[in-house]
Amino acid sequence: MKTIGLIGGLSWESTSVYYSYINRYVQQELGGIHSAKCLIYSFDFEEIAALQREGDWETATKKMVQAAKFLENGGAELIVICTNTMHLMADDIKQACNIPVVHIVDCVVNEIKKQNMSKVGLIGTKFTMEQSFYKGLLNTNDIEVLIPSQKERKVIHDVIFAELCKGEFKTTSKQAYLDIINKLVENGAEGIILGCTEIPLLINQSDTSFPLFDTTFIHANKVAEIALSNDLVKN
Ligand code: GLU
Repeated sequence: MKTIGLIGGLSWESTSVYYSYINRYVQQELGGIHSAKCLIYSFDFEEIAALQREGDWETATKKMVQAAKFLENGGAELIVICTNTMHLMADDIKQACNIPVVHIVDCVVNEIKKQNMSKVGLIGTKFTMEQSFYKGLLNTNDIEVLIPSQKERKVIHDVIFAELCKGEFKTTSKQAYLDIINKLVENGAEGIILGCTEIPLLINQSDTSFPLFDTTFIHANKVAEIALSNDLVKN
């Protein structure tokens, strides 16, 4: 079993879910009281969120690279960035480290392809919905991406930071998200990427008949599978 290095705290609400999914997977695969070997570098999210708000991606990248190196030096054999947004600097982390980074979009693309879909809706932080680092990778894999309107993107983004990252889950926000998802489906989305690791804390597949891609679940399970396999390739 490989030692997994998790860059977490972005926010800790979803990092704890990653930790739980990864350990559950390993226990189910190996049986008994087996659990995952892992290291977690957990940020104070306020410090990182402030950099995001200011658009200081350079400092944020330095901090993320530092965290990855810390994990590598501590014995991690693969790196997991436990947030969609901070895959913005995934390439910088890949370049700085001598161990592989398991990219969240690669894992999501796999699941979308399994369901033979070519057009999906994406909800997440405004950075994930609006910038090209996430959508671009989906497009490269022949997946068309629909995003909500500007007003709807603001609703989604604000709920993530004002509620979900603080562990608050409101019925009104859940309904607002479901209404936005319905519109994306009306516009032709065959499935919806829950492209923020806290969103699955608010909505899940039992809330809608439209196929949802839970990025936390997909990423964490793939990482655990890789940690137990022999095909660990540096990217
Ligand atoms: N966890 C969220 C995500 O998956 C948002 C937190 C962040 O901005 O890093 O994008």
